Amino acid sequence: MNYYAKTVARLIDQLSKLPGIGPKTAQRLAFYLLVAPPEVAADLAGAIEEARSTIRHCQVCGNFTDSERCFICSDERRGAEVICVVERPRDVVAVEKARSFKGLYHVLHGAISPMDGVGPEQLRIKELLRRLESGNVKEIILATNPNVEGDATALYLAGLIKPLGITVTRIAHGLPVGADLEYADEMTLGKALEGRREMK
Ligand SMILES: [Zn+2]
Repeated sequence: MNYYAKTVARLIDQLSKLPGIGPKTAQRLAFYLLVAPPEVAADLAGAIEEARSTIRHCQVCGNFTDSERCFICSDERRGAEVICVVERPRDVVAVEKARSFKGLYHVLHGAISPMDGVGPEQLRIKELLRRLESGNVKEIILATNPNVEGDATALYLAGLIKPLGITVTRIAHGLPVGADLEYADEMTLGKALEGRREMK
């Protein structure tokens, strides 16, 4: 049955493709956008367009940025001796919100997952190893997600990095198993970082 005009149906359909948005929420958002002042819809469309066309990966760490280097890599107050390795740009945000980490990041853009056809060569691992060539890095914190793929990725990276004489640590457990870093609350994530253990 068709309840909507074609263009409204299209809008609802597009909104319902977003993560966490079910059909009911999509309908609510669509109707809101249709009755809100015109600039609300225009500003939203403009913000999406602008972000998509300007955001790229930081040349150094792979985080989202609108310039060559992200604001974290450009911040000279941050220590260059410790690099926290995460799966996704959203994990950088999660760790930053925990506010206990003052080093740099490296974003892999995924985790090793043979089931999904993702091997090490699909991740930004070569770029990470290149960063270690400078000899300035003393510790790598592996903050991949506490699930099967994240653990496999951490083990793989530890095997590559430990022979370089760099301390490799893994964030402590206590994070909900199988969960994503981004869903951990700030306290828990802060504690997991503080309680990180050396991988032997
Ligand atoms: Zn960066």
